[in-house]
Amino acid sequence: MISCVRVKDGVEFTKIAPAGFHILAAIDSAAAFIAHDLTITSACDGEHSGPDDPHKRGEAFDVRSHDLPDKQLALQAIMNSLGTLKFYGFIEDETEANEHLHVQLRHGIIYP
Ligand SMILES: [Zn+2]
Repeated sequence: MISCVRVKDGVEFTKIAPAGFHILAAIDSAAAFIAHDLTITSACDGEHSGPDDPHKRGEAFDVRSHDLPDKQLALQAIMNSLGTLKFYGFIEDETEANEHLHVQLRHGIIYP
């Protein structure tokens, strides 16, 4: 079975920056690596941290984690593709209802 990237209904990709495409490609690779579908739950939409939010610039995406057999492995697989020099990812709100993987271009990094 082919694992793929899905998008939650209502998620809006209003803008995808070059760094954002790298993140999306990394999520796609990670789905194949962990042999499990990955679902994007937030792109440019939703309430985030304000006008300087990387989500609004198309440089950050959230991925559902509570349906994954190993969320740490999924995060590692994404970050292995991106590298941690320019990109940053973590499990946000871990163990809470809103838990998800958040992956973004690091603040202050101009890309490409
Ligand atoms: Zn996020």
